[in-house]
Amino acid sequence: KLSASAVNLWFGSKQVLKNVKVAFPEKKITALIGPSGCGKSTLLRCFNRMHELSADAKIEGQFLLGKEDLYAKSISATEVRRRIGMVFQQANPFPKSIYENINYGLAINDVPQAERAGIIENALKESYIWDEVRDDLQKPATRLSGGQQQRLCIARAVALRPEVILMDEPCSALDPLSTSKIEELIVKLKKDYTIVIVTHNMQQAQRIADKTVFMYLGEIIEEGDTADIFGKPEKDLTRNYVNGHF
Ligand code: ATP
Ligand code: MG
Repeated sequence: KLSASAVNLWFGSKQVLKNVKVAFPEKKITALIGPSGCGKSTLLRCFNRMHELSADAKIEGQFLLGKEDLYAKSISATEVRRRIGMVFQQANPFPKSIYENINYGLAINDVPQAERAGIIENALKESYIWDEVRDDLQKPATRLSGGQQQRLCIARAVALRPEVILMDEPCSALDPLSTSKIEELIVKLKKDYTIVIVTHNMQQAQRIADKTVFMYLGEIIEEGDTADIFGKPEKDLTRNYVNGHF
């Protein structure tokens, strides 16, 4: 499982995460919910060591994958990002071909050339997009529809055989049909991957998440089985948020 404890994070003098302790169970889908600005994306990025890129972030705390410290000197950011894939709200394929979008990460991770075509095909199949792109893998990824681009981004993560896939509002730029395709895909992927999905869509959380974590102003307010968080939350803040009174 993926977990964090005693996490505090500041951007400059502003504290954005406050004593966060959270666990994302293995091969389950966890929804991370909470109002805009509460720190959901910031928390996800910590697991991916993305804040190393922004000099003004100060991070305290521990981030573990199983028993392994994700910030240990013995593990590189590239290795962390291979084992923990990330998918963003705005599908962000590279301005390259479909094939090259997946090949890029394989090359960075030293996957032998001879294995790559097979891995790419499998990742596209696993991400429910193969049939739509198999005729022309050289097509620029930016010419795919939004939903296809998002499935390609999932394929890009899947190709590296990660243990975890973090998804930051993967459907919020998509129409209902593309959204339901991606939901179906996410539910299928949990057989093989631990999944965390940030969403503002309460119906989506209830449709697909096993566990739900509610954040507010940088803190974890409540977490539990999705049915409990939505059906019988313990805190007023949670009840108000999941009922849309915010
Ligand atoms: P949303 O639902 O709108 O995506 P969020 O819960 O993902 O919101 P974050 O993006 O994590 O919220 O932002 C948390 C807080 O940190 C916000 O106040 C935001 O302005 C601030 N913040 C985020 N990134 C940075 C940064 N690189 N530098 C400074 N402040 C930042
Ligand atoms: Mg966000």
